[in-house]
Amino acid sequence: MKSMHSIDLETVEMTLDIMKYAINRISNTSPELGKPKKEQDLLDLVGETITKEGIGGEKAFELFRDTLVKAAVPVDHPRHLAFVPAAPTRAAILFDLVTSAASIHGAYWMTGGGGIFCENQAMKWIVSLTGMPEDSFGVFTSGGTSANLSAMIAAREYWRDLDENNQGLKALMITSKGAHSSVKSMAKVIDADIITIDDDNEHRLTGEYLDKCISELSEFDRKRLFAVISTGGTTNAGIIDDLSGIADICERENLWFHVDAAYGGAALAAPSVRHLFDGIERADSVTIDPHKWMFSPYDCGAIIYKNMELARNAHSQKGAYLDIFKDEGAQGFNPSDYQIQLTRRLRGLPLWFSLAMHGTEKYTQAIERGLSLANNAAKQIKQQPHVELIREPGLSCVLFRRIGWTAEDYRDWTYKNHSEGFALVTPTKWITNAENETCARFCFINPDTTEKDIEDILKTMIE
Ligand SMILES: *Cc1c(COP(=O)(O)O)cnc(C)c1O
Repeated sequence: MKSMHSIDLETVEMTLDIMKYAINRISNTSPELGKPKKEQDLLDLVGETITKEGIGGEKAFELFRDTLVKAAVPVDHPRHLAFVPAAPTRAAILFDLVTSAASIHGAYWMTGGGGIFCENQAMKWIVSLTGMPEDSFGVFTSGGTSANLSAMIAAREYWRDLDENNQGLKALMITSKGAHSSVKSMAKVIDADIITIDDDNEHRLTGEYLDKCISELSEFDRKRLFAVISTGGTTNAGIIDDLSGIADICERENLWFHVDAAYGGAALAAPSVRHLFDGIERADSVTIDPHKWMFSPYDCGAIIYKNMELARNAHSQKGAYLDIFKDEGAQGFNPSDYQIQLTRRLRGLPLWFSLAMHGTEKYTQAIERGLSLANNAAKQIKQQPHVELIREPGLSCVLFRRIGWTAEDYRDWTYKNHSEGFALVTPTKWITNAENETCARFCFINPDTTEKDIEDILKTMIE
């Protein structure tokens, strides 16, 4: 019997078919906005696909291309403005294919050297955007969630090593209401308690509020407090905390200062808003997701540390069969020493290739484009009687209301636009006068979105 790894004419034909599809998809700037179907409906359409003999590559691919992929939403559609969309560059997507084809183990320099070199070149640029001190560096992770988790683990280990009395204490951290849901989830993973404090009138966590919160802690809670998690661009509204004020308090109190800039961090490359991040250079760790606003394909996050040594103390795995990787001769930068994952894909490679090809200036332009689309949307909303801006755009997020609409109206509108294959724009909630109001939200990432797209979406809210 022919083996799975052999190459014959059929495999070559299938390869060409699949590459043709990939090339077409990569060149298509306005893919069909797919609609999810129920699992049973999909099963009825395609049948069981895993069988003892296999259904053959041609058949399996056909099912995917003609049916299954159409039951998913392409996140790079220019009228996909929900959640945080994405718009990977063509260069980055192509190199995602190359990353798989190259089959490189990205955990250790000994095996991944040339690829890790590329990742590190891209990382050097990201770190430079933060203005963090020399010797700060980072690694690519599967996303913001694992970046945040990796940072919290490093922070807690550091705190435990500070004082042996801390060893037996349940750790405590402070964050804000606007923090991303992953912060709370990851606190659960490390079994730490979390205090969510109020933000100021502009919904920012400030040094003043942080100071007040710490001064009101019991002596016991103060002892177990180890970190403050601030946000550099909230996911819902693009709000950046008072990073300088928070840095002051963290330095005074010897607390780990983490900035979660998973969504917003790319805007460090945009001169028009860079000043809003002042203070980020004093962070102990920063999360930035290249798969959000740095035009990388999924999945690619990044965690940057001021002191890499502290991250390595927390994360470096030890094992008899791993020692060789850390020996002289294999010496080089080992990404697995700085985050939770051991075996890893070189997930920074697509970003590297795209950055190398286009240069950083193009990144600045594309990110500024997202900001200017948000400003344009705000302008159009102000000019139209049926809609009302809730707040000025925060980075590329725009919150607005359709006058007179209830939560159900927003929901129906979302489903209608989606089922017509026109747009994906979802509602969110915003606290207005102590009330949790349902409203509409745009988040701009894709530079191919046009002002006309915005106009057309606003029109769908008229009736
Ligand atoms: C998206 C986001 C995360 C989570 O990142 P994933 O890549 O989805 O794991 C964390 N924090 C913020 C602020 C985010 O916007």
